[in-house]
Amino acid sequence: MRTLIANFKMNLTPSETKDYLMAFLSRFDGSKIDLTLCLPYTSLGLGALLCKNRNVRLGAQNLSDEEQGKNTGEISGAMLKDSGVDYVIIGHSERRKKFKEDTKTINKKIKVALKNGLGVILCVGESLTERNTLKTFEVLREQIECALKGLYENELERVIIAYEPIWAIGSGKTPTKNEIEGAVKEIRHIIKDDFSENASISIKVVYGGSIDSKNIKQFLSAKKLDGFLVGGACLDPNEFLKISSLCS
Ligand code: PEP
Repeated sequence: MRTLIANFKMNLTPSETKDYLMAFLSRFDGSKIDLTLCLPYTSLGLGALLCKNRNVRLGAQNLSDEEQGKNTGEISGAMLKDSGVDYVIIGHSERRKKFKEDTKTINKKIKVALKNGLGVILCVGESLTERNTLKTFEVLREQIECALKGLYENELERVIIAYEPIWAIGSGKTPTKNEIEGAVKEIRHIIKDDFSENASISIKVVYGGSIDSKNIKQFLSAKKLDGFLVGGACLDPNEFLKISSLCS
């Protein structure tokens, strides 16, 4: 069964989310796909209500690296868990860049998420300059090793790695199928080096970056790829339904 993750980013008010979910869920068949909708914080309560018994997981897009207390404006792992959240995106390039999240913070957030019973969608990927200077694999190793430092192998069962080249996010550009396969192979290789062969086979790896219902077809047969993370194209329920049925 393929994994499909939607990142709504900072889009849709709770009322808009309600309209979206009513339109989407009435035509969505959750029996053939493992879907996680990563909604904005303000839509999570509503998402939990409407997604209940629909075979759809609920995701958040960030969490605090602290457990609780003096962190005005932050959201804790326990708050997310208690709101019905299953997964949380950590290390998205927008947060690494705009909010200056470094690898130590990302590692801390992953540990907090796992401790609170949440699954983690860890985003990794190279910039255009790094790609052009052939540093993609080096960057992937650094990002993954720092993010997963100190984790137990069994905790990887609750980690999904999303290969998201920064230059592909929201740009309309994608790597070739071969390039995605190369990155996925390297990611599994890193997991094998740091954990075990078993972990490298069983960990879920998805691709994200400018996926839509037209270009996804060429990537469906990519080797060892478990699914996709979709940003912009998930915002239109009809388009996202098409993507979901192509992945089923
Ligand atoms: C993302 O932000 O994670 C993403 C994949 O966005 P898009 O699909 O718009 O490139």
